[in-house]
Amino acid sequence: MNYEKKKVLITAKTYPHPSATYQELVCTAGVLEDGTFIRLYPIDYRYMPYWKWYKKYQWIEVEVIKHDKDPRKESYRPKIDTIKPISSPLSTKNNWQERKKYVLANGTQTIEYLNELKNQDKTSLGIIRPEKVSDFVIEPSTEEWKGSWQDVLKQNNLFGPDKKPLEKIPYKFSYVFKCDDDRCNGHKMMMEDWEVGQLYRKMKEQGNSPEEAAQKVKDRFYNDMCASDIDTHFFVGTVLAHGTWVILGVFWPKKESANYKIKKCLIGKSEEE
Ligand SMILES: [Zn+2]
Repeated sequence: MNYEKKKVLITAKTYPHPSATYQELVCTAGVLEDGTFIRLYPIDYRYMPYWKWYKKYQWIEVEVIKHDKDPRKESYRPKIDTIKPISSPLSTKNNWQERKKYVLANGTQTIEYLNELKNQDKTSLGIIRPEKVSDFVIEPSTEEWKGSWQDVLKQNNLFGPDKKPLEKIPYKFSYVFKCDDDRCNGHKMMMEDWEVGQLYRKMKEQGNSPEEAAQKVKDRFYNDMCASDIDTHFFVGTVLAHGTWVILGVFWPKKESANYKIKKCLIGKSEEE
């Protein structure tokens, strides 16, 4: 098999974790121009030259090959030195129209439907549109990386780049939601978005206690992104080792009908005045 060049719209990046083989690993997911999901793995993102640091909703070009050790359908191994950002991030104008064109090109799924696909052809990425998101749970997690990962971080890497400190977030965050599917009994699913960890760290740097910082994460990822006027979608993916689904990111344009109502309201008002 040969490497092929693909154009990928980045839609999700997970918080890095240490790796014995690579510096540390980030799961990056995105869509091709026809809306097909793709996972680029592994990428030691923070160790790439800065100009290669891609953002969400940015198109990149990259040479990839189907992953030989990862049977998940969408997993491709990228040739790191071919990664090239080729656009600025797509805008959120017109209620995320430009992003929707690619992200929702093949519609949305439910976890129940994705599980069927997983059994059929090892599908491991998707986008769901929950019927209801009812909570965002903050639970304490360990302060430190697990033992084997700690060893990796401590290893003296004589020939590699210097280790950058990788802070463990002492909480885990999960969404509680129900799919728009008769078979759904509800889910409590871990949220693995890189931005959750970034926001938590930023809030702590600004002088908040760990509890306050975690609460600010909830303010953003639940109160804002799951507000009643928001059309909340989740990017989801399976974990290689266990096959369980986790949330990789949130896609959160406004509800179209709500927009329409607001406009109508305003028009009505101006007519009265
Ligand atoms: Zn469900």
